[in-house]
Amino acid sequence: MTDNSTGSTKHYVLCNRCQKPTNATERGVVTSFDPEVGIPSLVTLVSCDTCKFPLLFLQEDYGQGWDDMFRVWPSATRYLSSAVPKPLRDEHNQARKCFDAKAYTAAAVMVGRTLEGVCAENNVKERTLILSLRKMKDNNLIDERLYQWADELRVLRNEGAHYTGSQVSREDAADALALSEALLDYMYVLSAKFEEFRKRRSGKTRAAAAVPTQPATKTASATRPGKTSK
Ligand SMILES: [Zn+2]
Repeated sequence: MTDNSTGSTKHYVLCNRCQKPTNATERGVVTSFDPEVGIPSLVTLVSCDTCKFPLLFLQEDYGQGWDDMFRVWPSATRYLSSAVPKPLRDEHNQARKCFDAKAYTAAAVMVGRTLEGVCAENNVKERTLILSLRKMKDNNLIDERLYQWADELRVLRNEGAHYTGSQVSREDAADALALSEALLDYMYVLSAKFEEFRKRRSGKTRAAAAVPTQPATKTASATRPGKTSK
């Protein structure tokens, strides 16, 4: 979002130092377009109005005007949890490196490799990726929605992996990376957290069920001297 009303051009951006959306003042803009190299690009340098930290954003024009500002420096990289197996983190990091280097088709292909890795890490190694993903779903390793995500990523991977004369767009590659990251988080981080939570809760429920005199205990502690200060 850009605002010119204050004299200097302002942008509403996510500052990685403040770790929150904030106003930033535009310090410089460079547009470039060389048909030999790629599509038109617009690079904007801003400084955060809160912490004064510099941030560099890129926008590209795929024929429909400038797309949203995408932070290229400092890199928007978010590191995956160590709960995600290292080989999968490595695949995902490679995908991100391709993306950062603006090799969007290669990023989509790497996301596909990450998916293959997820299946292999779960001992599902069918003849094709689609068969592996179906088996993951049939074995309840992923639910219907995750299966749909994964299948969309597989389709994009195929677009990237085979010569079609067209490139994967930055938007599609960015979404693929985000979905792949969410898939890894869901499978290895959130599922484990949920299991822990459920175990803890069921332990508490059992403990509560085993103590039928709980209301009496509460009354006793409430009338205990010194407990009323809270
Ligand atoms: Zn800041």
